Amino acid sequence: MRSFLDRLYERYHREEFLYSDPLEFPRRYRAPLDQEAVALVSALLAYGNVKQIRRSIEELLARITRDGLTPSGFVRSLALPEGKTRARAALSGFVHRFNRGEDLLLLLELLGRSWKEHGSLGAHLMVALEPSAGDFSIALARLIADWRGWAGSRTPSFSHLLTSPADGSCCKRWCMLLRWMGREDGLDLGLWGERGALRAGFPEGRWLRASQLVIPLDTHVGRISHYLGLRTRKTLDWRAAREVTDALRAFCSEDPVRYDFALARLGILDLCQRKFQPEVCGGCELLSACRFARKRIRIGQKCQSSSVRSPKNAVSGSSP
Ligand code: SF4
Repeated sequence: MRSFLDRLYERYHREEFLYSDPLEFPRRYRAPLDQEAVALVSALLAYGNVKQIRRSIEELLARITRDGLTPSGFVRSLALPEGKTRARAALSGFVHRFNRGEDLLLLLELLGRSWKEHGSLGAHLMVALEPSAGDFSIALARLIADWRGWAGSRTPSFSHLLTSPADGSCCKRWCMLLRWMGREDGLDLGLWGERGALRAGFPEGRWLRASQLVIPLDTHVGRISHYLGLRTRKTLDWRAAREVTDALRAFCSEDPVRYDFALARLGILDLCQRKFQPEVCGGCELLSACRFARKRIRIGQKCQSSSVRSPKNAVSGSSP
């Protein structure tokens, strides 16, 4: 399995596929707080189809920078009444599926409060992230609890942004944000990782370790992980995300989510399409490990061997 996953990683964990991922947006910025602000909104708006997500993030960034502010400057401006009035006007009319401009305004105000009280969002997370913790669930749940408390009463659309492991949610968008921030390679930013922690001035010994990350379990990764036998749990919740992460840990204990970007490309780029396609599956790096495709091949072979009596039984392109 590891060699198949490594081949998939080599093929898709590359800059040339960033166009299909919201990670492209925070990578446009160099200043750490700009990256934090843009990564937060890009990750939390990453629901729906890729084109719509990209369009919404582009529009949001154009709105928050339209008065010549940087993204972090926009967040800081929310602390002043005149800044908040200008920000409300800038975000008025913004819509991304369930979320409206006012949800984003509140989200960025909470980010600003984390900056004020802790110096950065990463430092806020580090308050409850024990170096020995197996994953970041307690730290994320604490951060979300703080934000829910600061936000006071919340609309359902805003609550949709603040998912927590404490509620059993798989927290796909937060896991994605933490993957961007906790891993450092040619794609992920690593702002809250060991090297980033030195720059950010986190408390000594505290940073987000790649081994503490949990896979962002979207529908694509959820489905393909089932095909690969990495998941038995049916519901895509926190326990399922942990199950897949622990299964991947067997192949790379220090960095179990390294395969996430590549696995997600199979679904996002519409290569793996919930059906056995000989022309696609035949060239897929995961074919030898894919239980779904192997089963279809076996059924096809069985049908072929009895095709003298009934040639129509040959299986090709059958649905799961
Ligand atoms: S072999 Fe086919 S069904 Fe299996 S993961 Fe690859 S593309 Fe998807």
